[in-house]
Amino acid sequence: MTRSQMLQALLHELGALRAELLSRHTFVQVGGPADWFVVVRDRDALIDIVRAAHFAGTPLSVLGAGSNVLIRDGGLRGVVLRNETRACRRIGEATFEVDSGARFAALARSTARTGLTGLEWAAGIPGAIGGGLPTNAGAYGSELSDVLVSISTVAPNGDVAELSADELGLSYRYSKFRGGGLQGHIITALTFKLRPGDVYAALAEIDRVEALRKINAPTGPSLGSMFKNPAHESRSAGQLIDQAGLKGTRMGAAQVSDLHANYILNVDVGNARATDFLELIAHVQDRVEERFGVRLEPEIAVIGEDAADDE
Ligand SMILES: Cc1cc2nc3c(=O)[nH]c(=O)nc-3n(C[C@H](O)[C@H](O)[C@H](O)COP(=O)(O)OP(=O)(O)OC[C@H]3O[C@@H](n4cnc5c(N)ncnc54)[C@H](O)[C@@H]3O)c2cc1C
Repeated sequence: MTRSQMLQALLHELGALRAELLSRHTFVQVGGPADWFVVVRDRDALIDIVRAAHFAGTPLSVLGAGSNVLIRDGGLRGVVLRNETRACRRIGEATFEVDSGARFAALARSTARTGLTGLEWAAGIPGAIGGGLPTNAGAYGSELSDVLVSISTVAPNGDVAELSADELGLSYRYSKFRGGGLQGHIITALTFKLRPGDVYAALAEIDRVEALRKINAPTGPSLGSMFKNPAHESRSAGQLIDQAGLKGTRMGAAQVSDLHANYILNVDVGNARATDFLELIAHVQDRVEERFGVRLEPEIAVIGEDAADDE
């Protein structure tokens, strides 16, 4: 058996799909096809696929919940792995290790129910913990780095490693997974240290956070906040976009939300293309820069190839 046949055998065993449209697997419902699309539910299978793809010389990309990624219309070559690993193990009084595919909302609630506090702020974040670490996901003044102890990773060549939180370069919406030495490495598990606390107070805080989102966050397919809040600027990205008069601006299927200017919504799901979003992102950046001298930087990840007709 060649290395490529070994990869294909593993993909078949795991029920992988060919030419799967990734718009079915992203919150914004945009994205071209993956050559191979496979869902993994345990950490060993995840590592096996990374190694098999490496030995076969096949590119590999990872998705969590697909809530923070814009995939271009030409899609992704090679294997796209959707990470649904969700096991959680308590390893100390207030310390636990969780697989990287676990969702923020479920983890915030389950830890609160066991009397551990420190993740309530994350209850309304729709993605996976592993997908949130590259941007040090955060909300309401808290972020992952406040509670993270260490992570496990698998490198593109299949080597596994344990890294402490201090080694990850975590800062506001940044880590070494975005541009630093860990780009292309996959997070397989995260260890958190929370604080023992009152179950009812923690659950009440989660209810408060969820209620706030219902009032302030637009509904409909989106990527959440599109741009980082700029450094050395008292106004948020949303305030700058609003003050530049861009609420409601539409290009193709992409529209700046009327409710929250830092959200760009997909308002024509069946016909939406990544290029609509990319053009609107560039337009917003240009207008805000002209008006206020600040170039907004996207918070989301943009991956994949342009469609042949875009080149
Ligand atoms: C309505 C809405 C509200 C949101 N609110 C917030 C918020 O309050 N705060 C906030 O920080 N974010 C927010 N987000 C963004 C997003 O939910 C988080 O960043 C989330 O944790 C991303 O996880 P994901 O699994 O969806 O990542 P994906 O979108 O699947 O992936 C994002 C990037 O991470 C990479 N990646 C995914 N999994 C791994 C892994 N295991 N190892 C290495 N790289 C990986 C992907 O390749 C991709 O480049 C919001 C998004 C939406 C749609």
